Amino acid sequence: MTAERRQGAGGCDAQAHELLSVAEAKQRIMDLASPLSGRERLGIRAALGRVLAEDIVSPINVPPHDNSAMDGYAVMASDLPDDGERTLQIVGSAFAGRPSTTILQSGQCIRIMTGAVLPLNADTVIAQELVRANGTQIVVTAGHRCGQDVRRAGEDVRADDVVLGAGTQIAPAELGLLASLGVAEVTVLRRLRVAFFSTGDELRGTAETLGPGEIHDSNRYSIHGMLARLDIESLDMGVIRDRRDDVRKAIREASALADVVISSGGVSVGEADYIKETLEELGEIQFWRMAMKPGKPLAVGRIARTLFFGLPGNPVSVMATFYQFVQPALRHMQGHRHETGLLLRVPTITALHKEPGRLEYQRGILERDSDGRLVVRTTGLQDSHVLTSMSRANCFIILPAESSGASAGEAVEVQPFHGLI
Ligand code: AMP
Ligand code: MG
Repeated sequence: MTAERRQGAGGCDAQAHELLSVAEAKQRIMDLASPLSGRERLGIRAALGRVLAEDIVSPINVPPHDNSAMDGYAVMASDLPDDGERTLQIVGSAFAGRPSTTILQSGQCIRIMTGAVLPLNADTVIAQELVRANGTQIVVTAGHRCGQDVRRAGEDVRADDVVLGAGTQIAPAELGLLASLGVAEVTVLRRLRVAFFSTGDELRGTAETLGPGEIHDSNRYSIHGMLARLDIESLDMGVIRDRRDDVRKAIREASALADVVISSGGVSVGEADYIKETLEELGEIQFWRMAMKPGKPLAVGRIARTLFFGLPGNPVSVMATFYQFVQPALRHMQGHRHETGLLLRVPTITALHKEPGRLEYQRGILERDSDGRLVVRTTGLQDSHVLTSMSRANCFIILPAESSGASAGEAVEVQPFHGLI
């Protein structure tokens, strides 16, 4: 008997060897997703959060001219003394936006403000606090360097350089950078449209009073939040009752409207049938049981050109499977370049419990201990219905399939939540 079978024999992971690995599932999903082809031209402010569909080539040097980094005096380096002092005559002044027309001669200096164009013949700026000045003259001591406190034309960006490549997401720094180039409009990929719904007879709205056996639908809210963070146009299709016709109608409608459809619930064994049957009837769908916790069952496939994700029902499973599988696919469709995301290895200060068999995304709190070291601790109860574990956490603690947990002090792999959760 293999170790895998032995270890699985007594637990719920009896078929651990039949489960799809997380890495394999991620790869298969990425193979199904392809970047959007639609593009649009937008003013740069409206393009915040979007992904460039073109390379941005700078039409100009930034800064456009040599200029002063300080308020002080523009001088010729050849006038600077090697020792002792030198007196220079002030022959003009230069302000940001108001260059001096005086051509500097030896023995002279020009009063200059931060951002002002360096006057002709000047190559060095001496900050005002480093000289003695009396209104018409300055006294300069030794110890200055040729070219100090001068910002060179093009040292930030050179004309004709590709400043931002296609696939770059426009964040606040990129908005400022585009503006500094004088670029007013950019071509970006169109927004991804994602329709989503919950399934379950037990689900009620937030404003409804719960009857026996009923719960509030939370998945539509966490999914709404995660989609909003990804700058996606989302269509909330509500709660679909566990009836074949309702499920079929919802999937038909959603897949006609959106690039991606996400459902939650109804993919676990026994109750899975309406979603599963309907999807098989309407498209090409695969059902996977993944070697992962939380979130064993997942349905993935296509209905015509629409990508479909059937997430499990448990609220933590929804967020974990979204984060690990749906998010990378959506980002790929949005045109983002592939990113592996930040993984850290840090000691856990609490013991972490786990059975070998499935990779676990436990919820953790990454923090500094009293010595300033980064450490992680568990959020506590790890069951897949415990949504407070997601709310308290700021990271996933990734325990590999074969791991049997970790004792306090042991190093574990941590994936900080990156904006989405
Ligand atoms: P299912 O996969 O439909 O069997 O659901 C698994 C568990 O998740 C059950 O306890 C459901 O009640 C719960 N669940 C399913 N959908 C939701 C939802 N939208 N919000 C909160 N809990 C849910
Ligand atoms: Mg259900």
